[in-house]
Amino acid sequence: MIEFKNVSKTFTAKEGTVHAVKDVNLTIPDGKIYGIVGYSGAGKSTIIRMLNGLEFPTTGSVTINGSEISSLKGKELREQRLKIGMVFQHFNLLWSRTVLENIEFPLEIAKVAKEERRQKAQKLVALVGLEGRENAYPSELSGGQKQRVGIARALANDPEILLSDEATSALDPQTTDEVLDLLIDINKKLNLTVVVITHEMHVIRKICDHVAVLDAGKIVEQGPVLDVFKNP
Ligand code: ADP
Ligand code: ADP
Repeated sequence: MIEFKNVSKTFTAKEGTVHAVKDVNLTIPDGKIYGIVGYSGAGKSTIIRMLNGLEFPTTGSVTINGSEISSLKGKELREQRLKIGMVFQHFNLLWSRTVLENIEFPLEIAKVAKEERRQKAQKLVALVGLEGRENAYPSELSGGQKQRVGIARALANDPEILLSDEATSALDPQTTDEVLDLLIDINKKLNLTVVVITHEMHVIRKICDHVAVLDAGKIVEQGPVLDVFKNP
């Protein structure tokens, strides 16, 4: 479970103090697909950075499964970061490496033995539906296929949370639907908590159980998607 308790984050900029996140309270239960939606500047990236311990709250606390992120340092923080698998808008693949090598990369960093890495990566290739493309380079893949590699790579270290940061924002509508279906599939098969950060309402409607709507750093609505988006 992820908990934000009375979290505020301010930055000191040339223009003065910027209130990026204001008194946010969020509870993200295990095993759900939870959406955080908001326009550009709403505070989404700041929330992600606080989840990863790249920024710490100015006030309030962020805890993941009971451990407070801002109390972690060094090795503990690095280990905590491995528990969050990140999927990015622009894939962030390594272009000189094949599909299989990209998926193996986080395992290489975690010093997993070569044979085990291969086996793990092969399983993930199957999970994301890329059989037959193992030896392709990212430049030979469609956008949707690249994102499948991104998702497989994010799962390599058996994370507790899959965090999708605008993962479909660079994809066409049909490819978007395919990638969202894959996220639903992974949520079910692995019983994995999926956090979906997006500016696209239709993404939230399609896959999320719960949603928090962020505007100018504040949560303005929160609840089951069907309640938040129900027509009056
Ligand atoms: P989003 O990801 O939803 O676009 P951000 O979290 O990036 O929103 O930004 C929220 C607000 O905080 C914006 O006004 C942004 O300019 C400001 N902000 C974010 N990071 C910094 C920073 N390091 N220094 C100053 N202002 C920042
Ligand atoms: P697409 O057009 O399929 O979205 P892009 O060329 O925009 O692909 O690149 C997607 C991402 O990969 C971007 O974040 C970009 O910075 C990164 N990227 C592009 N070329 C390389 C490269 N040669 N090595 C590493 N990263 C790259």
